[in-house]
Amino acid sequence: MLFNTFLGLKLKRILTQLTIFIAVIAIFFLIIQTKNDKKDNKIANPEIIYEKNEFNDKLVKKRVKQSAPSLLIKVKSGDTLEKILKKAGFKNEEIFKVINETKKIFDPKNLIIGNEITIKYQNKGKSIEKSINSIFIPLEFNKNFYLEKINENFVAKFQSEKTQKRLIKKNGFITDSLYLSGLRSGINKKAINEMIAIFSFSVDFQRDIWRNDKFEILYEEEFIKYDKSNKNLGKILYANIDLQSLGSLKLYRFESESGKVEYFDENGKSAKKLLMKTPIDGARLSSGFGMRKHPILGYNVQHRGVDFAAPKGTPIYAAGDGVIEKKGWNGAYGKYIRIRHANNFKTAYAHLSKFNKTPGGRVKQGSIIGYVGSTGRSTGPHLHYEILKNGKRINPQKLKLPSGRKLKNGELERFIEEKNLIHRKIDDLGLY
Ligand SMILES: [Zn+2]
Repeated sequence: MLFNTFLGLKLKRILTQLTIFIAVIAIFFLIIQTKNDKKDNKIANPEIIYEKNEFNDKLVKKRVKQSAPSLLIKVKSGDTLEKILKKAGFKNEEIFKVINETKKIFDPKNLIIGNEITIKYQNKGKSIEKSINSIFIPLEFNKNFYLEKINENFVAKFQSEKTQKRLIKKNGFITDSLYLSGLRSGINKKAINEMIAIFSFSVDFQRDIWRNDKFEILYEEEFIKYDKSNKNLGKILYANIDLQSLGSLKLYRFESESGKVEYFDENGKSAKKLLMKTPIDGARLSSGFGMRKHPILGYNVQHRGVDFAAPKGTPIYAAGDGVIEKKGWNGAYGKYIRIRHANNFKTAYAHLSKFNKTPGGRVKQGSIIGYVGSTGRSTGPHLHYEILKNGKRINPQKLKLPSGRKLKNGELERFIEEKNLIHRKIDDLGLY
């Protein structure tokens, strides 16, 4: 009994020691393994990175630094390539050659403020004289300027990176405005702006959007391979807002035979109407919910228009194609514009802070005619918007506007195919 207990204790101790020993060895191997993995990455990566913009990658930059020093210069206001190179201490003779070569494809004075220019150079012999090896200037998404010294001559060219596309589906509830709720759900900013623009024909973004309305969007995003931070908005394929006030509105992208891109509803009716219901940048409207209760912001017989509360300077759009028939100061209306449209419609815009130049007085739907202000009898910056039919002011909220074109025959068939394809894509992306 005593012996057994003694043996048991000893065995227990041996087992414990053995377990600790094995654990220590396991951890040791794990650490070595992780280190090796990191090493492997370093060896394996340069090949992948080589496909990428070699100047934007830290790893490659390190390699560049080992072989040749480089300068990273942020473009400031008033900078030209010549100024930058002079400031960096390169020789005039060399700068002259660089500028001449650059001019063949790109204006060296036309730099974008804030962009970063990379200059690789070498020190000539033992002297402190620097000599340019290459210059890299990012220009726009997927387009860069690259100048390189080849056999003592400079050669300039444009470079483009490999890009990839991915399809993004987002949805959510509106808690304040479509713009802010969309941003919070991670939708690309440009995509929300475009989404608001295509719904502006049929939705009053001040009065028709209520708390807990739903939205959904499907769009393409283009990005440079291996650099997902650099994104470009591709096509919006589908957008849906499900409103308590107007019901569910779905719009689908469709390219007609002429190559023109438009948005159509489920039945193939164009999203575009004769006049816009929100003739202002809807993304900048003050949160609509509280505003709807404000008496002056609704429509009544005395008021005869609808108001859009937005910060001073918010762009105001021509609600439809037409001719400006009045533009100037108009008493209580302040700075005022009235446009004559087809079908005996007119629209008026009041309290503007300033007008936009409209040569000839002819305006296209959606073009900027002026900016929000508080001129005339007004208590704060807003747009007062009126629609007139046969000279009488009518309530834009109740107006049934003649809709734009409706797809027919072959085009309608093609649209329905396209619509079904879009829905299959949405289903493929799953619930999220
Ligand atoms: Zn008003």
